[in-house]
Amino acid sequence: MLYQLSYTHHTILFSIILFAGWQPDIFVIVIQRGIAVEDSKNLIFRQIPSVDYLLESSPVGGVLLTTPRALVLRAIHQILDELRGKIDRARTDDELPDLELNNVVDQIVRRVSVLSQQGLRHVINATGVIVHTNLGRSPLSKKVIEGLNSLAGCYSNLEYDLRTGKRGSRYVHVEEILMELTGAGGATVVNNNAAAVLIALDTIAKDREVIISRGQLVEIGGSFRIPEVMKKSGARMVEVGTTNKTTINDYESAIGPDTALLLKVHTSNFQIVGFTEEVGLEELAALGKKYSLPVMEDLGSGCLVDFSRYGLKREPTVQDSVAKGADLVTFSGDKMLGGPQCGIILGKKGIISTIKTNQLNRALRVGKLTLTALQETLHMYRDKDRAVRQIPTLRMLCQSYQSLCRKAKKLAGLIGKIDARKFSISLCDGFSYVGGGAMPLEGLRSTLLSISPAKLSAPHIVESLRSSDPPVIARLEKGRVLLDVRTIQEKELKLVAEAIRKISAEEAKPGN
Ligand SMILES: *Cc1c(COP(=O)(O)O)cnc(C)c1O
Repeated sequence: MLYQLSYTHHTILFSIILFAGWQPDIFVIVIQRGIAVEDSKNLIFRQIPSVDYLLESSPVGGVLLTTPRALVLRAIHQILDELRGKIDRARTDDELPDLELNNVVDQIVRRVSVLSQQGLRHVINATGVIVHTNLGRSPLSKKVIEGLNSLAGCYSNLEYDLRTGKRGSRYVHVEEILMELTGAGGATVVNNNAAAVLIALDTIAKDREVIISRGQLVEIGGSFRIPEVMKKSGARMVEVGTTNKTTINDYESAIGPDTALLLKVHTSNFQIVGFTEEVGLEELAALGKKYSLPVMEDLGSGCLVDFSRYGLKREPTVQDSVAKGADLVTFSGDKMLGGPQCGIILGKKGIISTIKTNQLNRALRVGKLTLTALQETLHMYRDKDRAVRQIPTLRMLCQSYQSLCRKAKKLAGLIGKIDARKFSISLCDGFSYVGGGAMPLEGLRSTLLSISPAKLSAPHIVESLRSSDPPVIARLEKGRVLLDVRTIQEKELKLVAEAIRKISAEEAKPGN
């Protein structure tokens, strides 16, 4: 009989015998408990339905009519594996899974539906974080989508010079407009801003020294850390100053024969407040000039519009950095610019040309879809007011408190009456966030739809919203579910209302 016990039961059993001495009652109880669950396990393993049997059951057969067999098989194998795992881990009979056929089939059908929806899909951002990296940062504007629509399905002059009939450069399509908008002498584009920083450092400072303030050794998240990018590029980092204070003298006294670059990094996602000192770009550029050293600024977000004109805090613009004399400026295309993912590099003509000949450039280059979207986005900036109205990221950023109130009321109206025993709904004041590392402490006043839990718990409501179609991503804060209308697109309001109504109408399941 003992041989039926698993190793752990075995060990526990003998420990107990040693501990308790030979006391038959304890021994019998232990043996029975041990054997009971192991016996049930053996029994229940044999009860797991076979794949063939499941395929022939009528609900699964029905699913097979509309779903590829391979997908259904994947769902069946996943569910059966999970059941085996549960049985394996069970320590008491209560923990054994229910193998009733209907129940198993039900799980399979649900899994098929989850698997067939896997992949990139539309989600509704109700978090109020505008540049939300996990949710794809910037939605593109209608105008940009039209551009993609007309170019994505055909050949284009991507690398073909229509005047000469010879090979052209893919970058010319955005270079001129970038130079026009920013005043830079040269411009180029790579896959993202991390790539922009990497290729710039690799080009200018490989095996040489880069001077940077200790207050700017930032981590952006998703594993972009300045010291590590520096290492990857082969540049040697020379840290100067302290976390909170760095002076121009700190930079100057670190300059030596191996110095290749002075680097300034926008401390995107945090702020050091209090007893602080930072060297401005102008001053750093002057120092660079004195020693004939290039100065680079990694702006991170990089905006082309002065948002103080629209009632927000003034953030330095890309044009400011160019005008203040930075030799190189890098920033993301999909943060405050509101375009596609890419990294934009601006700078003096000579340095930009050298960067373009770096072998890495080929590995980091952007595709035609990105170039199309970037080109269309940049063209919109020729009229700043229009850019703010029509580029979704900018529009959300500049949305007035009054219009947010109206939007929230509209959402509440669309939801209508709900079952107050499950949860209740109210509007409250709160804050949205820019995200993407811009204005980290700057909350933007907004109106939020607040769902206070009753019978349904707040985590359950958040999860139900997330499993809606399309998924609605909300905030869970202080036991309430918050939906910020700032990041919900006008045409999505109906979908959000529908999702909330559905949750209110759902059958109560035990354990909710
Ligand atoms: C966001 C950011 C990066 C990385 O940009 P990606 O476009 O995500 O590659 C680099 N530096 C700073 C300062 C940033 O804010």
